[in-house]
Amino acid sequence: MAKALISIDYTYDFVADDGKLTAGKPAQAISERIAQMTQAAYDKGDYIFFAIDGHDEGDVFHPETKLFPPHNIKGTSGRDLYGPLADFYQEHKTNQNVFWLDKRHYSAFSGTDLDIRLRERGVNTLVLTGVLTDICVLHTAIDAYNLGYQIEVIESAVASLNQENHQFALNHLQNVLGATIIE
Ligand code: ZN
Repeated sequence: MAKALISIDYTYDFVADDGKLTAGKPAQAISERIAQMTQAAYDKGDYIFFAIDGHDEGDVFHPETKLFPPHNIKGTSGRDLYGPLADFYQEHKTNQNVFWLDKRHYSAFSGTDLDIRLRERGVNTLVLTGVLTDICVLHTAIDAYNLGYQIEVIESAVASLNQENHQFALNHLQNVLGATIIE
């Protein structure tokens, strides 16, 4: 069975100092590592899925509108990948093993065809990377768990706003969702 690395929301709005909903320094600190681990997975032949938040401007029906400032608005540079991961994507985006998936909710599975596309490729194990550990990474993992996927999380390639939230999520991933935490 095959593996897919799911690269979650490592975009300008979630990472850069002036991003619209930024996790700031802890997210910036993984920029080299997330690119390096993505490249390594790609070189091994794993599938790479970029699961990237995308909102319509002024969407009054979206629940996040009440919770967060507008972010990752479609058609804006806030959705651009941050750091060297952007270079990886530009270099390899035409390869069929690399796939960009727009998502509207925390989980990469919510309202998307991710599960179908993983099954088409015979994937049974997901390797999670990106931000934020306790929001989009965790919610994606919960859906993956319920759908029967094995989960791996690269600890040095996920980040959150603060260490407390980050650690809570890693504990939950490991002890409740059975994820393997990789350094
Ligand atoms: Zn969002």
